[in-house]
Amino acid sequence: GSGAILLLGINAFRKINNTNGFLYGNKVLLALSECLEEFTEKSDRIYRFQGDEFVILSPDGSKDALCKLFEKVNDYCNNIRGLKSFSLSAGLVSYPEDGTDFNTLMSNLEHSLEYAKDQKQGWIAEFSEKISQRHLRTSRLHEALTQSIHNNFDGFELYFQPILDAKTKRITECESLLRWKTPEIQDATPYEFIKILEDSGEIREAGYWVMEEALRHAAMWQKKYNNISVSFNVSYIQLLDGEFIDKLIATAKELQVDPRLVMVELTESCNADDTKMLSLQFDKLRKLGFKIAMDDFGTEYASFGLLHDVSMDVLKIDQKFVRGLIREGNKTDMAIIENVVNMCRQLSIQTVAEGIETEEIQDIIRSIGVSYLQGYLYSKPVPAAEFEQMIMREQC
Ligand code: C2E
Ligand code: CA
Ligand code: CA
Repeated sequence: GSGAILLLGINAFRKINNTNGFLYGNKVLLALSECLEEFTEKSDRIYRFQGDEFVILSPDGSKDALCKLFEKVNDYCNNIRGLKSFSLSAGLVSYPEDGTDFNTLMSNLEHSLEYAKDQKQGWIAEFSEKISQRHLRTSRLHEALTQSIHNNFDGFELYFQPILDAKTKRITECESLLRWKTPEIQDATPYEFIKILEDSGEIREAGYWVMEEALRHAAMWQKKYNNISVSFNVSYIQLLDGEFIDKLIATAKELQVDPRLVMVELTESCNADDTKMLSLQFDKLRKLGFKIAMDDFGTEYASFGLLHDVSMDVLKIDQKFVRGLIREGNKTDMAIIENVVNMCRQLSIQTVAEGIETEEIQDIIRSIGVSYLQGYLYSKPVPAAEFEQMIMREQC
């Protein structure tokens, strides 16, 4: 026969559960399943798939009809009595076009749902060749990443990008940025492979490698040059186990790094309960002299909520505001940066402007009073040896 199948999942269901408790989570699931019962056709069959996912099999039905069903159900989820609004994402296949056996259809559905969630939450993705290719690439990268990790992080390297004091324009810091390459895979961007590491949980292992590597360089440069501090990036999930902090403290001690020359950049935010846990961990680090930075300020991840709950030393203004400064007549980005900088001054938080690519932007940024400068205008991230040459050139 022929027909269509929809796989739908609740966006950020884990977060809904974590924030409101699993009893509330169950209510959400129940409300959704009742709504599906009500909105589907008599001939449709509904299955609970796994966790927060439901399958709707529509024998003789069309993808069009299931698309409309999705829209309707998704709208309804905005407005259920007694529940906070939530949203859905979905994958869609038809048979026999997208597969003739159960396993193929189900895996194509899962890849489509995954794709929908990555692209834009609250979206429906029809299975296509592109989705299948993308899934293949992700699995290939994932496999190679795992192999690299097992091979003692073969193929991983830290690059360093200079950060300049805005007043003197001298290099005072650098940010460590992870690179990964294998003989077969040369073109994976950090955004791409770090997301895979985060999704698989392997970011924790990789993160420890990054931490040690960053501290090793900090120790070396601390002896050779004066006061160059090193920052490295940490995803929020790396901090969940609480071991991270102790390991950082122990490693710094072992390598005899002055904690005041080490900065942790938090790249993602989290819900309120976790923020409390984070701020306790960060306070412990700050008491020892380590610096804490909040990355990408102004994006959906990092904003005022986190600023309110977590005390920090440095705030990194997201590139999108910095870049916006050239667009003529764009007063918004200017106003945002000015106000963020003023606010930080009052709170004794230092600011970094990322993504400075032109003299023009640099001059505006300096006139606003941002504390530190970072961007391609000065240098791209480079291997350690090249970074050292930059410092040496400056110091003689
Ligand atoms: P991020 O932490 O915001 O890092 C800044 C990114 O902006 C870097 O991209 C850097 O190369 C780029 N950049 C710096 N200046 C300029 C500029 O003037 N113009 C433009 N167009 N780009 C500039 P990169 O190295 O590709 O890293 C991307 C992201 O990957 C980072 O964003 C960070 O979120 C993540 N990442 C990198 N290394 C690590 C790591 O070791 N651990 C974790 N958890 N995340 C990392
Ligand atoms: Ca960063
Ligand atoms: Ca950033």
